[in-house]
Amino acid sequence: MQQENPFNAPGGWYKGCLHVHSTLSDGLLSSDEVLDWYRSHGYHFVALTDHHVPSQAEILAEDWITLAGVEVGGLDPVAGLYHLVGLGVELPGPGLSAVTSLQDAVDRLRAAGALVCLAHPYWSGQRSAQLMDVQGCFALEVYNGGCEVDDAKGFSHVHWDDLLAAGRRLWGLAVDDAHWRTGDRDAGLGWVWVKAPALTQQAILEALDRGCFYASSGPLIHDVELDAGRGEIRVRCSPVVSIDFVGSGPLSRRVLAPTGQTLTEASHRLQDVQGYVRVACQDADGRWAWSNPLFLGRNGEDTTTWPM
Ligand SMILES: [Zn+2]
Ligand SMILES: [Zn+2]
Repeated sequence: MQQENPFNAPGGWYKGCLHVHSTLSDGLLSSDEVLDWYRSHGYHFVALTDHHVPSQAEILAEDWITLAGVEVGGLDPVAGLYHLVGLGVELPGPGLSAVTSLQDAVDRLRAAGALVCLAHPYWSGQRSAQLMDVQGCFALEVYNGGCEVDDAKGFSHVHWDDLLAAGRRLWGLAVDDAHWRTGDRDAGLGWVWVKAPALTQQAILEALDRGCFYASSGPLIHDVELDAGRGEIRVRCSPVVSIDFVGSGPLSRRVLAPTGQTLTEASHRLQDVQGYVRVACQDADGRWAWSNPLFLGRNGEDTTTWPM
């Protein structure tokens, strides 16, 4: 997996919803109503991901597209209940409803041309150790807004860090997973900002695959810069109350704003045994932004393809 720094990459920023339901499965709004909601709330793309009902990619306007998407689920003998989101899945999708094992479902989605994401592992009740041997997922949902507002199980950052610390390379998505059961209270909670050369399904999927995006439930990240020479990582963002530099085990640090104030930048000296570092910012309303992890060699040596 090649990584690209979204903050240096050419192209434009596009805001997208990568997990949402409609009346085509168990959501309460029609697919047209769902698309209208996101269009009117400033999004550039949406993947409708109804359960076992693949949607289609369409260009609806110059600044408004849909990605093909689907959510599949089953019971794995090791991991138990699982849900996966497939993005860019080609219709009709081979045998997606007859799947039992998690790895089999990942493999079938990939065979159908999809990028595959582990959906809401905390909500599903999965433990990190049960996910270590799963191959072929490009990301997991670090935040699922619907699981948080409905069931208080939206944050899967511990699963993410456990997998990253074990050397798994997964990006982090924030999503809504809205079902519209309580009006739109489960919508507009989690999204991605993708840096891509064009607003097409192919360009967005390729950027997602390269990690050329960040996830948010509120704050903006303006820049994440790795200075390998100084062994330092620097971040600029919209006003927040804390900026976290999260790495393996205890090699993490939180930079707090003084009481009643906010921060818009912070830096962190990397540790020489640190395998990865990722940034998470929290604003005064408790909303977050999450950068993707940077993978590091010993002595802060950059093992990604990020330009300095
Ligand atoms: Zn699900
Ligand atoms: Zn869902």
